[in-house]
Amino acid sequence: MNAPPTPASPAHRHDTVCVRVGGVPIGGGHAIVVQSMTNTDTADVAATVRQVRELAEAGSELVRITVNSDEAAAAVAPIRDQLDRAGCHVPLIGDFHFNGHKLLTEHPGCAEALAKYRINPGNVGRGSKRDPQFATMIELACRYDKPVRIGVNWGSLDQDLLARVMDENARRAQPLSSQAVMHEALVRSAVDSAERAVELGLPADRIVLSAKVSGVQDLIAVYTELARRSRQPLHLGLTEAGMGSKGIVASSAAMAVLLQAGIGDTIRISLTPEPNGDRSREVVVAQELLQTMGLRSFAPLVTACPGCGRTTSTFFQTLAQSIQDHLRRRMPEWRRDYAGVEDMTVAVMGCVVNGPGESKHANIGISLPGTGERPVAPVYEDGEKTVTLKGDHIAAEFQQLVEQYVARRYRRHGAPS
Ligand code: SF4
Repeated sequence: MNAPPTPASPAHRHDTVCVRVGGVPIGGGHAIVVQSMTNTDTADVAATVRQVRELAEAGSELVRITVNSDEAAAAVAPIRDQLDRAGCHVPLIGDFHFNGHKLLTEHPGCAEALAKYRINPGNVGRGSKRDPQFATMIELACRYDKPVRIGVNWGSLDQDLLARVMDENARRAQPLSSQAVMHEALVRSAVDSAERAVELGLPADRIVLSAKVSGVQDLIAVYTELARRSRQPLHLGLTEAGMGSKGIVASSAAMAVLLQAGIGDTIRISLTPEPNGDRSREVVVAQELLQTMGLRSFAPLVTACPGCGRTTSTFFQTLAQSIQDHLRRRMPEWRRDYAGVEDMTVAVMGCVVNGPGESKHANIGISLPGTGERPVAPVYEDGEKTVTLKGDHIAAEFQQLVEQYVARRYRRHGAPS
């Protein structure tokens, strides 16, 4: 589990309303919150509990679960209960579409156990059912004292609203492009729904907004406008980002532009996992995005060179990987014991060209021998060469040095400063 969020960087927008989700503050200048979503069948309590715990242990500060049926709604309270008994108190968010008004009404245990309800204004009901069903969900949020996310998605945009915006556009002297009309409809759906929720009695500090699209430039345009027109905290995410490097690059490209402009109070990276892949990867990517941008720190980062013709062995790649894995594995304990360890930088470099220089810039770094170099690996701590490793146990010895460095360099929580 992560330590409580640290304050966000000065670049982060501070004028949004702060919404508390099960004790986690979103907006109001608080640190940008990392969240994720399960892909288990929520009715399968054991599988969902297992995955929520994995996501929380990876660092997800909020976890969303699908609530799409009576069986899923009936499972929510037992899931919450089992998580609490296991010492996992991560807030759960219920993701509702089409029948949320009914499920929340008929399953009070579910309504109580969830820390936030996600409402999609485009899927809340068709025609004359839309407004009363939306109102029911807001009334339930008021009754159970829960915040909501009004989560618009262009794949399920309110078609009546889109038609109205298109009609207005057709009457303009200079009509906007169809893309701009879509952006306007997304923003208006989010902003108007939030206003309606407030009219229905939900306080403004219970509403988070999102308007997700799957195109990078579309996302930047929509959120820039949304941030201009609303003071509600914004949940940032590129929907259907895709698999592997494409999903990571697209999400990072879009979100980095917005985060750099101070927009976004909580993020989710919507990666499609490989079959049987690790769902927690989306959490690690979200953390690495925030950390590499200097917005938050979660775990020590490894600086590693890409390798080139000067180092023909794969030893340094293996070492970089094993050190990165070691740091993540040790982080839960270190975070508990040592203040500031998440800011540590570790360098693993492949040869003498940039190795010593980069290692000196890190808290602790190792410069491995390139092809034809003397088989020795100098280690640098806080810019000074401290020891030179050689032989067959360089990896294990360097890992040991990192352990000793952490124990020496970082103050134990509770110890006098
Ligand atoms: S540090 Fe050496 S091995 Fe690594 S990329 Fe630079 S020149 Fe190549």
